Amino acid sequence: MNATNTPQGLPGQPHVAYQGEQLMLEGVNLSDLAREHGTPLFAYSKAAMLSALAAYQRGFAGRQAQICYAMKANSNLAVLQVFAEAGCGFDIVSAGELARVLAAGADPAKVIFSGVGKTRAEMKQALQIGIGCFNVESEAELDVLNTVALGMGKQAPVSLRVNPNVDPKTHPYISTGLKGNKFGIAHEDTLRAYQHAASLPGLKVVGIDCHIGSQITETTPYLDAMDRMLDLVADIEAAGIPIHHIDFGGGLGINYNGDTPPKADALWAQLLAKLDARGYGQRQLMIEPGRSLVGNAGVCLTEVLYLKPGEQKNFCIVDAAMNDLPRPAMYQAFHQIVPVTPRAGEATLYDVVGPVCESGDWIGRDRALQVQTGDTLAVLSAGAYCMSMASNYNTRGRAAEILVDKAQAHLIRQRESVFDTFALEQLV
Ligand SMILES: *Cc1c(COP(=O)(O)O)cnc(C)c1O
Repeated sequence: MNATNTPQGLPGQPHVAYQGEQLMLEGVNLSDLAREHGTPLFAYSKAAMLSALAAYQRGFAGRQAQICYAMKANSNLAVLQVFAEAGCGFDIVSAGELARVLAAGADPAKVIFSGVGKTRAEMKQALQIGIGCFNVESEAELDVLNTVALGMGKQAPVSLRVNPNVDPKTHPYISTGLKGNKFGIAHEDTLRAYQHAASLPGLKVVGIDCHIGSQITETTPYLDAMDRMLDLVADIEAAGIPIHHIDFGGGLGINYNGDTPPKADALWAQLLAKLDARGYGQRQLMIEPGRSLVGNAGVCLTEVLYLKPGEQKNFCIVDAAMNDLPRPAMYQAFHQIVPVTPRAGEATLYDVVGPVCESGDWIGRDRALQVQTGDTLAVLSAGAYCMSMASNYNTRGRAAEILVDKAQAHLIRQRESVFDTFALEQLV
């Protein structure tokens, strides 16, 4: 490839590409970006987000379907704005996320509220703004929501999150649809829970939902979950409770390290064929994708601080850490790490680690890199569950964020200063 050819994206990251010897995100030079804004720095490609969304939109062409972006994957206001302007609804899990989507211009009627531990105050706020639906996760929550709604003279639209008990074949920490998970209502309790919901005057049953896990790379768990869900819909409707919408959750995986998840449109072609075959193809459908809309749209730029050769391991110490990129420490997750301007010569195996005082603070293990102190590295697939999980551990201010749109780079979150990190504290 030479610099005049259209650059080809890196595997799984079509919007991240080398142009000559320079890594670009869309039309933005990532060395320049790091120089201008400092590191660690997150940058997201708007085109990558919209192209991921477009795959779902193609998949649902001609159907009644609402895509609700699961915003916990990346909750920056400008990211939410991109999806709101593209017609998305949102899946939220807290009043904080509710405030964010409203600030980003979301239509409250397209917002659904998930999560096992909604407080009364959160329910109240969501009812006040006219939320589209509560995805209720237990019978106890039904009773509390009923009381809150009646107290406000309202009826809360509800869907019950059922646990279809299928194995999504992913990391146990991100697997949610098996027996023994804290999420959802057990398959065998579902009909009773629906009858209970239908009997409560403060609730209006509108749907059913499930979410079986995250970073799912196979089609079968989705097909199995759909079968289990449709069996339940049949039972519930036979008991005289109409189910207006069916929500299949999120969970579709992305390519981190040669993973080959189905494409969203191909997955939905198969799922819709099943829905049609079972006579549910004309229902109102909903999905809650998070990672698959933003994960491969983002990179985290980080500077090499020190190279520390060792007897057993060589360490490449960078200025991003587990507080910026928590996934390796939390789930032993893999992120590709590439130089922003590659050097010629032989590569050395390094563990790429951050400055945080924890042995769990690593970004990548045994990576072949040809680097020197001061180089900038790009941690790939960093658009989902990175910045949204970032913390101030070790009193590190959180990174800045950039939204790239063609050749333009918009600062969408300022770097947090150290003073920001303790602004709410006081001496006694
Ligand atoms: C996290 C979550 C999602 C999104 O999961 P992804 O794997 O990011 O697609 C969807 N629905 C619910 C209820 C969730 O908790």
